[in-house]
Amino acid sequence: MMSEPSAHVLTEDQLHLREAAREFALKEVLPVANELDPIGGVIPQDLLDKMAEIGFFGVMLPERSGGLGLGVLEYALITEELSRAWMSVGSIIRASTLPRALPAERRAILEPLAAQGKYLGAFSLSEAEAGSDVANIRTRAVRDGDDWIINGAKMWCTFADQADYIVLFARTSPTPNERRRHLGISAFMIEKERGSFPAGIRAAPVRKIGYHGWNTFELGLSDVRVPGSALLGNEGEGFYAGMVSLDIARIHTAARAVGVARGALEDAVTYARERVQFGEPIASFQGLRFKMAHMAAEIEAARALTHHTARLLDAGLPCSDEAAMAKYVASEMAEKVTSDGLQVHGGAGYTTDFAAQRYWRDARLTKIFEGTSEIQLRIISDRLLGKVAR
Ligand SMILES: Cc1cc2nc3c(=O)[nH]c(=O)nc-3n(C[C@H](O)[C@H](O)[C@H](O)COP(=O)(O)OP(=O)(O)OC[C@H]3O[C@@H](n4cnc5c(N)ncnc54)[C@H](O)[C@@H]3O)c2cc1C
Repeated sequence: MMSEPSAHVLTEDQLHLREAAREFALKEVLPVANELDPIGGVIPQDLLDKMAEIGFFGVMLPERSGGLGLGVLEYALITEELSRAWMSVGSIIRASTLPRALPAERRAILEPLAAQGKYLGAFSLSEAEAGSDVANIRTRAVRDGDDWIINGAKMWCTFADQADYIVLFARTSPTPNERRRHLGISAFMIEKERGSFPAGIRAAPVRKIGYHGWNTFELGLSDVRVPGSALLGNEGEGFYAGMVSLDIARIHTAARAVGVARGALEDAVTYARERVQFGEPIASFQGLRFKMAHMAAEIEAARALTHHTARLLDAGLPCSDEAAMAKYVASEMAEKVTSDGLQVHGGAGYTTDFAAQRYWRDARLTKIFEGTSEIQLRIISDRLLGKVAR
C-alpha cells in the first residue's frame, strides 16, 4: 500500500476503521468482484451478511439502533475502501439510509433492521424523460379514499428487485408554473417483498455495461395501490425532501470514485513491477512512472476535497458547492485515472482477466449518476455567476 498524505489528519479511531474496512475489502470483496463482475453476477447474500455483522450498513445510524453512530467522514472512508474492491459494494451500504421524512415511530422500528442490512431500499426518481431535468417526471399518483393509486413509468431503478421498499417520486398535482416546476411532486415509500415486485409493477432489467453486482430496472406502474401512510412528508414537497440528503450522496459518490481510482492505481503498480519488456520491468520506464505519479497525485487531490467536504458536513456547515465540486472533481479524475490504469496493462487491460477494465467501466458511471458532471458544473457556475433564465 502506498503512503496516503491525508492519513496524517485522521484520528486513531478513523485509521483503525479504515484499516478494518481495507482488510475486509481486499479479503472478502475483491475475490467475489473478480469472479462475479465478468459474468454480471449479483452480490451474494453471505457477503451482505458479513458486511452487516461488521456494521457497514449502520455507519451513520445511531448506536441506540445498533448503528456505529459515526459521521460523513467515516462513511467516506469506508466507502472508498469497499469501492476500491467493487464499486457496487461501496454503493450498497447506502441502501440502509432510511428516508428522512419517515415518522419517528416507524424510524424507531425500522432503523435497527436497516443497521443489520435487513431493511434496504431502492430509489426511483429518474424517468425516461426526466433524468437531469427531474422536475419533468410524469408518473402520477392520485388519491382514492385513504389510498393512493400510482400510474406511470420509471427508469434506472437500481436494486428494485432485492430491496425491501422503493422510495418512488410521482406527481400529485400539476406544475403550478414554469418557475416552480419542482412543486407538486410527492415521495412514496412502496414496501415490498425482497426478490419480487408488488402487484401492478412490471420490471425489465436494463442492459448495463458495468455497475454489476445488482440489477437496474425500468419499471412500469399500472394502478399500483399504496396506503396513505406510504406518503413521505408533505404532499407536493417530495422533491425538496429528496434533495436534502444530496450533499451526503455526492460525498458518497466522490468517495466511490476515489476508491475505484485507487484500485486502478494499485493494480497498475503491481502489474508494472511484474511485466517485463525490453528486458526490464515496465515500471522502470519514465513514461509510465510519471503516469502513475500523476494518478497518485490526482487521487490524493480528489480525496482531500472529499474529506474536507465531509468534515464541513459533519460540522453542520453548509457545503452544497463543495459537495458538487468534490463529486465533479473525483468522478472526472476517476475516469482519467482508471483509463491510465488500463493503459499501463497494455492489451491485458482490455481483457476481463484483469480488473483494470472494471474500474474503468465503473468509474465512467460516477460522471453520470447522482447528477452528471455537467449538472455539477451548472450548480457551481450558478453560484459563481448567478442563475440565468433558461
Ligand atoms: C447504471 C445507472 C444506475 C442508475 N440508478 C439510478 C437509481 O437507482 N435511481 C434513480 O432515480 N436514477 C438512477 N440512475 C439515473 C441517473 O441518475 C441518470 O442517468 C442521470 O441523472 C442522467 O439523466 P439521463 O440519463 O436522463 O441523462 P440526460 O439528463 O438526458 O443527459 C444527457 C446529457 O445532457 C447533459 N445535460 C442535461 N441537462 C443539461 C444542462 N442543463 N446543462 C448542460 N448539460 C446538460 C447531461 O449532463 C448529459 O451529458 C441511474 C443511471 C445509471 C446509468
